[in-house]
Amino acid sequence: MISEENARAKILEAVRPLLPRKMSILNALDHFAAEDCFARLPLPVFDNSAMDGYAVIASDRKPGKRLRVIGEQPAGLDRQLRVSNGEAIRIFTGAPMPEGANAVVMQENVTRDGNEIVVNVDVEVDEFVRKRGCDLGEGQKIFGKGERIRATKLPLLASQGFAEVLVDGEVRAAIISTGDELAKPGENLQPGQINDSNTVLVQSLLKRCGAVVASAENCRDDADSLRKAIQSTAKKEILIVSGGVSVGEHDLVQKTLRDLGAKIDIWRVAIKPGKPFLFGQLGRCFVFGLPGNPVSAFVTFLQFVRPAILKMMGASNLDLPKMPAKLTIDLTNDSDRAHYLRGKLENGSFAPVGRQESHALFGLSQSNALLRVEVGESLKAGETVDVQVLDQ
Ligand code: AMP
Ligand code: MG
Repeated sequence: MISEENARAKILEAVRPLLPRKMSILNALDHFAAEDCFARLPLPVFDNSAMDGYAVIASDRKPGKRLRVIGEQPAGLDRQLRVSNGEAIRIFTGAPMPEGANAVVMQENVTRDGNEIVVNVDVEVDEFVRKRGCDLGEGQKIFGKGERIRATKLPLLASQGFAEVLVDGEVRAAIISTGDELAKPGENLQPGQINDSNTVLVQSLLKRCGAVVASAENCRDDADSLRKAIQSTAKKEILIVSGGVSVGEHDLVQKTLRDLGAKIDIWRVAIKPGKPFLFGQLGRCFVFGLPGNPVSAFVTFLQFVRPAILKMMGASNLDLPKMPAKLTIDLTNDSDRAHYLRGKLENGSFAPVGRQESHALFGLSQSNALLRVEVGESLKAGETVDVQVLDQ
């Protein structure tokens, strides 16, 4: 049995970032930037009006003074208008400021009288003017290499006129869920059968990482079927096999992989749940064997598969976000493996939920955080602990 830290280090040593490529910003959501990115335009790009109103010279505004409206500047092409003393230009939100003008009066604060306006408020220099570069300066860094391209960042890229962005490669993953007992959700359950939960579990976790699910299939606990299934799917960047990695006679995954020439780097890790976890390489495909128990599959995916995928996709941060929380109960880990407890993080407190057993899906469904308790560690209610927040 290998330690959790060594297992993670071994996996991260084996996997490499995939080749970067240009991608349309329309498809780049959740990919990782493959290079630092700098603003090539200031934001706003030019001084423009923040309101529908009138562009004026601030010092020109004396109470009751009438200004002649000499033109109109809507958002769009700059009409190259110019304001002089005693004049105003009708202007609209987003329109370029006419030359000479240094403030905008909201139309609500103006009385229009034919070709003239009377401004009814004080006007200050730069009032309702969005100044060029006040939000973002030219050359300013807008993205770091390895940063995830979120929905909040994409409009910024678009504002810079970037139609494409260099992103790291995309991991394509195949899934095989093994077990003679498995029925697909929607099929009639025969006595002794259970519905397959792991396929959709692994699919969801893969998608959350930004990986593409290339295929997902079920396979019986039969050496021939398993060999065929592995042979036909171990062509993508990664293959995830669920179930069949333990020590029983029906756990055929490791032997089948070895027969096919795979190198098994890791089998059995000091982690609870998830001890039978397996990692190996078959040709250029990285193979992760997740224990069949759904909670074990969940925990081992997040601790081992997720960081590997993120590294391959060029992420700079491979860890789940962590947050301090007040523990609600006393806890002791007297097993020989680090224990990942599923729990609810709410209002700064962490409370373990449901049965802390590897088959217990209901408890998992109620949880939004994981607490890692070291071997031999005792924690007291009220103590502050760091929990991993699940990015679901
Ligand atoms: P295994 O790792 O194949 O020995 O399976 C361990 C436990 O997980 C057994 O109780 C299996 O029935 C269960 N199991 C295996 N695969 C799945 C799956 N895809 N969905 C739900 N439970 C599973
Ligand atoms: Mg099985």
